[in-house]
Amino acid sequence: MTDGIHRIQVPTPFAVGRVNVYLIEDEPLTLVDAGPNSATSFNELTNGLAELGHSLEDIELVILTHQHIDHLGLVSLVAERSGADVAAIDVAVPFVENYSEEAQKDDEFARSVMLRNGIPPDVVSALSAVSQAFRAWGARADVTRVLHDGDEMSFRDRTLHVHHRPGHSPTDTIFHDRERRVLLSADHLLGHISSNPLITRPPGGATERPQALVTYLRSLEQTREMDVDLVLPGHGDPITDHRTLIDERFALHRRRAEKIHRLISDGPRTAYEIAQEMWGNIAVTQAYLTLSEVLGHVDLLLNDGRVRELDRDGTSVFEAV
Ligand SMILES: [Zn+2]
Repeated sequence: MTDGIHRIQVPTPFAVGRVNVYLIEDEPLTLVDAGPNSATSFNELTNGLAELGHSLEDIELVILTHQHIDHLGLVSLVAERSGADVAAIDVAVPFVENYSEEAQKDDEFARSVMLRNGIPPDVVSALSAVSQAFRAWGARADVTRVLHDGDEMSFRDRTLHVHHRPGHSPTDTIFHDRERRVLLSADHLLGHISSNPLITRPPGGATERPQALVTYLRSLEQTREMDVDLVLPGHGDPITDHRTLIDERFALHRRRAEKIHRLISDGPRTAYEIAQEMWGNIAVTQAYLTLSEVLGHVDLLLNDGRVRELDRDGTSVFEAV
């Protein structure tokens, strides 16, 4: 694909479709992400490597971009088969090493956010069941190389600069080859869809609802300033004009915030009611994504002082100021 970086598109059971696993032909021989934990994904990853002239056993390093299971699930199996090191940013380590417990806590956090924001209990239960059913597509892994924001990873032929860019998840990490002006962006920046600013339980035990979209937009501003000619995302095709794309994302989120402000100006509403007005009757599996979208934009309005949050018998209602 570019200077020794190859893409292997591994299938996932999720709406997003295939996930991009990147092979960096360098020393160490490196995989960026591994795909979800399934036999089909494992076979396609193995076949993809074979087509590129490598076997799974040759892999020396697996770099994890963030905690989501479509990227994480096979890391442990690849590391076991190959003896590869596993590298992940410091904030991701507790999640990666205690996957089941952490995923359970994430679900509980999500459940309380949903109930607080007016999603009916039967929808919340259904969504919890879906999440449980998907749990096995992830798996814990031992992180043998802990990365930090600002680190440099040295390879024989290149150096990758490590940057923490939270927002889509609390652990999003991007990897920048300054010399070649190439950026491995994972799900922080995707070309064909805007990244979901998923509301996720913050690392470190804080219980307050995090402002995921606010965090995400701040991260995106930092990425916009980077000198990059080619972005290799976690899903979909490479991106060549990241500044134009990021400006489109900023405009999209501004438009969406204004639309939500107009709805709230008609009268106080819960985030769930806003989501239904925006997207109609939402599939159960999309309820948390759309809630995260709405709350993210409501946060922008809250921070601008244009909306306030009221408590109506334990449910949050948003009202124009
Ligand atoms: Zn993903």
